[in-house]
Amino acid sequence: MERINADVVVVGGGPSGFGAAISAAKEGAHVVLLEEDSQLGGAAVDYGVQGFSPGIICGVHAEIREILAAVDYTYKHTKCEFNSHWYAHACNLIASREPKLQILNHTIGIGVLQQGDQVRGVVAQTRIAGKHTEIEILAPVTIDCTGDGDIAFAAGCKYRYGREASAEFNEPHAPAVADNQVQLCTWMYRSRRIDEQSQYVPDFCYNRDIGFNEYLHWGCQVPCADTVDSEELRKAEQAAWEVMRPNFATLQENGFVVTYMAPRLGIRESRRIVGEVIITENDCASGRRFPDAITSSKRGLDSWEPDRAKIFYGSSAMYDIPLRALLPQGKTGILVAGRCISATHIALSGFRVMPTVTSIGQAAGLAAAMAAQQGCLVQDISVSQLQQRLESAPHNVRWSKHVAPK
Ligand SMILES: Cc1cc2nc3c(=O)[nH]c(=O)nc-3n(C[C@H](O)[C@H](O)[C@H](O)COP(=O)(O)OP(=O)(O)OC[C@H]3O[C@@H](n4cnc5c(N)ncnc54)[C@H](O)[C@@H]3O)c2cc1C
Repeated sequence: MERINADVVVVGGGPSGFGAAISAAKEGAHVVLLEEDSQLGGAAVDYGVQGFSPGIICGVHAEIREILAAVDYTYKHTKCEFNSHWYAHACNLIASREPKLQILNHTIGIGVLQQGDQVRGVVAQTRIAGKHTEIEILAPVTIDCTGDGDIAFAAGCKYRYGREASAEFNEPHAPAVADNQVQLCTWMYRSRRIDEQSQYVPDFCYNRDIGFNEYLHWGCQVPCADTVDSEELRKAEQAAWEVMRPNFATLQENGFVVTYMAPRLGIRESRRIVGEVIITENDCASGRRFPDAITSSKRGLDSWEPDRAKIFYGSSAMYDIPLRALLPQGKTGILVAGRCISATHIALSGFRVMPTVTSIGQAAGLAAAMAAQQGCLVQDISVSQLQQRLESAPHNVRWSKHVAPK
């Protein structure tokens, strides 16, 4: 058993985890970031999500875009779509500027160290000199950015999975009866027109022309009975292949080649950890302001429903994301960030996108670093001080009070 002492441990190196780790390290904390894969980037790399949805462009997300603008031909052309490898490169470059950030790739968080209801760190598994080895990372604050809420789940935090009934929070777009269904999964891929005579434009699924004769494909929409169960994921992946194979053939018959397929089927939704506040559809639709706002969004609902038409609204009123949605109910020493924060199925569908979850992560990282420095719980830090630090350099998180709602 290996042991590492840190100020903050972040599990998951996707947009939220990367934002969290960078922000805590910039604040002077010794941060350990665990990522099970070889590359940072989360969905932008693992799921081939190669386009940014609307959100406030600030802080770490803005730094990533600056790097993409310098190196990535697709991003230079579209200012929205990009290539996964350049996203990973941007993360590597930004991380290389942080001497207090220790990244452990190929390392999976499998459990927590806990005293009573206080999380004291994470148990991870890696390989050292060919041997599977457990590592304990002891830290006063753990941030779960796994997307699935794996670490909060291991700590015994309360969570929700599936859809709330409309009556529970009076949500107009929720189904009448609660169930265990989550948003559809999608396997992303790309194709390129190689026959210069071909006039064909892909007309299946969701396809986006990203320039240079290339298309980004939301390749299939398949349900998964349980997005945190390996066998159910395998079944969904097989179903996805069945949908995509004829489309691959159509592309080839029409002078295209499939040039890239994401390493994994993309999961939009799994556990949502229950926090001190649950963000609901009405909070988003009404533009609710929270006193403990840490970022905001005006993205409307975007739920790929398993059994009915997609719910999509381009925008909504500007609404806040409160710090309390990052604080699991009844636990201390742990924060969640990213798509597993405390929200209903319907509310999550709007703000889950990369610009917004990166800024949620940044706030979590900063709050964790402040708590570690002050030797107190995140619950006891000054929210106004957190908000002030977030707004100032080097964090530069801007939120709704700075941006006039359109
Ligand atoms: C098909 C699809 C299309 C999308 N389209 C868009 C779009 O067009 N625009 C947009 O902005 N957003 C889009 N999104 C949403 C967005 O990509 C995600 O909501 C967002 O990336 C979530 O960020 P996250 O950091 O919470 O999780 P993730 O991006 O999922 O990152 C989680 C990271 O944690 C790691 N991890 C997980 N468990 C462990 C563990 N136990 N130990 C160590 N590491 C672990 C994973 O390997 C991963 O790197 C899309 C999502 C999907 C699935």
